[in-house]
Amino acid sequence: MSTSVTKIAPAQIIQDLLNAPEVQESFRFFEREAEAITEEHIAICSIPASPFAEQERAEYLLNKFVALGLSDVTLDEIGNCLGMFHGVSTRPLMVVSAHLDTVFAEGTDFTIKKRQQRLLAPGISDDGCGLAALMAIARALVSARVQTAGSILFVGTVGEEGEGDLRGVRHLFTEGARSGSIDSFLSFDGPGVDRITNRALGSRRYRVKLNGTGGHSWGDFGIPNPVHALGRAISRLTTYPLPKDPRTTFNIGTIRGGTSINAIPSEASMDVDLRSADDVELKRLDAYFRRAIHEAVEQENNLRRPGDTTLTLKIDLVGDRPSGLTSLTSPLVEIAVEATRAIGVEPQMELSSTDSNLPISLGIPAITFGAGGVAGGSHTLDEWYEPLDRDKGLKRGLLTILGTVGLNSARS
Ligand SMILES: [Zn+2]
Repeated sequence: MSTSVTKIAPAQIIQDLLNAPEVQESFRFFEREAEAITEEHIAICSIPASPFAEQERAEYLLNKFVALGLSDVTLDEIGNCLGMFHGVSTRPLMVVSAHLDTVFAEGTDFTIKKRQQRLLAPGISDDGCGLAALMAIARALVSARVQTAGSILFVGTVGEEGEGDLRGVRHLFTEGARSGSIDSFLSFDGPGVDRITNRALGSRRYRVKLNGTGGHSWGDFGIPNPVHALGRAISRLTTYPLPKDPRTTFNIGTIRGGTSINAIPSEASMDVDLRSADDVELKRLDAYFRRAIHEAVEQENNLRRPGDTTLTLKIDLVGDRPSGLTSLTSPLVEIAVEATRAIGVEPQMELSSTDSNLPISLGIPAITFGAGGVAGGSHTLDEWYEPLDRDKGLKRGLLTILGTVGLNSARS
């Protein structure tokens, strides 16, 4: 009989793993195969993966999963790439993921340049190193003949960034074939070995569009002006009394409209990003924002001349990421903390917006990790990654995964 992993102290679970020959062999694999892991990393990142255009990279991963011998390898309806590493039992089932997409538009040059140990390319760190970690860990499990108690579902997700709005992970947990039977979630995202993101930063994003008749700046003065209305709305939003704790922020990221200095515009629009560490605060800010828009438009319309047409308002929700947290006392976080200490690093708990937001909002334990190594210039064309001590990140990841799904103790 195997005992439930949650009943043993996390430090003991990690110690037992460190003593297990197959775990030690996996660790040696990470050290021995460092070059090959970096070559795989380069191969993955050479394949373009722009928002809503991740398919080629997903298919590459799919072929690699098949070659490795993972089971039930498939691209799901939304484009995620899935591969199962079966344990003795299907449950507990842990999803181990990294995101396929980058923030870079189609046509971006994804060619990797090398400067000594440094790799330079858009997406090389975010989330190229996460995808490389997925492959490395899957390879180590197979190579070291690890047998797990529960199972691991490796997933390359689509749509983590920006307007992707977590559509990959959302599908996985709400409509996918395995939705409802996933017990925990780990996402490798970016570099580092100390970060454990257990708090999900929520956001709501809007595109606001105002339309009117437009006209001559002098001759038609009085016709409702959509840019003036947006200005009023922005002015109101910037006076919102934001709480410092929980941290809550807003941003008008883009604003468009108009054709000429002496024409009343017929159209204006803006993109708005509202964020908070707390759902109640996010809802409060959201309500204030929508009220500010409606009032600003109403004021502008009230100033119109008799017979003038009013502005029409369209508010589209283009992003909705839930907030929440995986408790510090949840077994997943406790194991991750001990795994981090086991590689000689003191863990840093963090708040961020990642694929983990979605499972966290559903009450499923989820964390996001660095995949080892160092990096900079994330979300810029100068992004770089250096596989310095990458094996530490992989070891920490492996310990967290095995500490969560358990080793097949009946074998030893
Ligand atoms: Zn990322």
